[in-house]
Amino acid sequence: MNIHSKYLQFFFSLCLLWNAFEVKAQVPTNPPAIVNSSGIWLKGDLHVHSRHSTESSNNSVAKIINFSKSVGMDYMAITDHDNHVKGDVAHHTWTDPEFKSDSLLLLYGAEWTTTRGHGNVFSDKPYNHQQLYDIRDARDVNIAKVKNSLGVHLSANHPSGKDNFGFSYDLVQSIEVWNSAVWPKNANAIMIWDDMLSSGRMITGRGGSDAHHGVPTSTEKPSSNTYQAEYNYIGTPTTWVFAKERSLKAVVDALNNGNVSVSSNPFAPRVEFYADFKGNGKFEMMMGNTAISTGKPIQFQVQLIGKLLPKEQYTITVIKNGSKLNAFQVTGEMPALQFTDAPALQGRTYYRVTVEGKNTEYPEVPKSAALSEKMVALSNPIYFNFDPNF
Ligand SMILES: [Zn+2]
Ligand SMILES: [Zn+2]
Repeated sequence: MNIHSKYLQFFFSLCLLWNAFEVKAQVPTNPPAIVNSSGIWLKGDLHVHSRHSTESSNNSVAKIINFSKSVGMDYMAITDHDNHVKGDVAHHTWTDPEFKSDSLLLLYGAEWTTTRGHGNVFSDKPYNHQQLYDIRDARDVNIAKVKNSLGVHLSANHPSGKDNFGFSYDLVQSIEVWNSAVWPKNANAIMIWDDMLSSGRMITGRGGSDAHHGVPTSTEKPSSNTYQAEYNYIGTPTTWVFAKERSLKAVVDALNNGNVSVSSNPFAPRVEFYADFKGNGKFEMMMGNTAISTGKPIQFQVQLIGKLLPKEQYTITVIKNGSKLNAFQVTGEMPALQFTDAPALQGRTYYRVTVEGKNTEYPEVPKSAALSEKMVALSNPIYFNFDPNF
């Protein structure tokens, strides 16, 4: 090695040092987006009422499907109140001649409407909902047996509001952490979610508009609730699932696995959350996944995808075990950031993120964006030392 190259080496070392310093000083960086090619992102609404719920108005199944397609939805769960048809959703919502689509994936389900609160059922195929309706007043252990034998996904609805889910959370795979366009009323639902996560349960956070009222056609009579359609309708909020393929089963699998994030509407950016668990730059963990902690620091990446408002600043808050770990400001067409943290070697740790900023307009539901205030999107957790069979 000659003198010249020694100087060069010294110079490069200085540069490296300087770079390391720079990266630390200007967190967040804007790393390239992670593209996960093992599946596709599908969006939909997991809580919508059609005319088969007696208190809904101007909301036929065909209207729900056509609207959903017009705003680019991939899947939809029409969840009518089962008590309005004495549990027989199979011969009401599901046999409605309009309950079919060539492109929109229609989940089979209903809102399990009991005196102890409400839950949504999701299934990729028809199931015996009557059995679940008939056992609604039984003890939780007996309900669990029926639910498990049916092989359906059960989800706790509006957990802190009226008709909150009054059953054991061991019965559910998901919880409605974002009900309707009115974001502020979900604060207690988020608290319950964090409580359940802290108890060791891996429960998927999902959204649901709980929309009951459509915009009347020229031949329909408006109702006293027609005004609601401008404030809250299909897609407020929108639940994104990372599905292996475009199929009903893949949607339910993603919900079971927590590969899910929620956005204020179909046009708001989607948040994706990954971790480079092996430290190889591949970010093989995504939200919903769990791994055994080695106690060493792990690199995480958060990214916003979709129709962003490039001039707006978004605040990404990282929540670790229910408390704020950090917050970052990001801007641009495709903002992304990385942060590092060490999950505990022993004991459980989870991380999730929220995105706040100016909401993307949703012209089809023009008054919804204001109701969501600054809430743009939220992720599901990445887990460490959680036992999926807990
Ligand atoms: Zn309800
Ligand atoms: Zn409902």
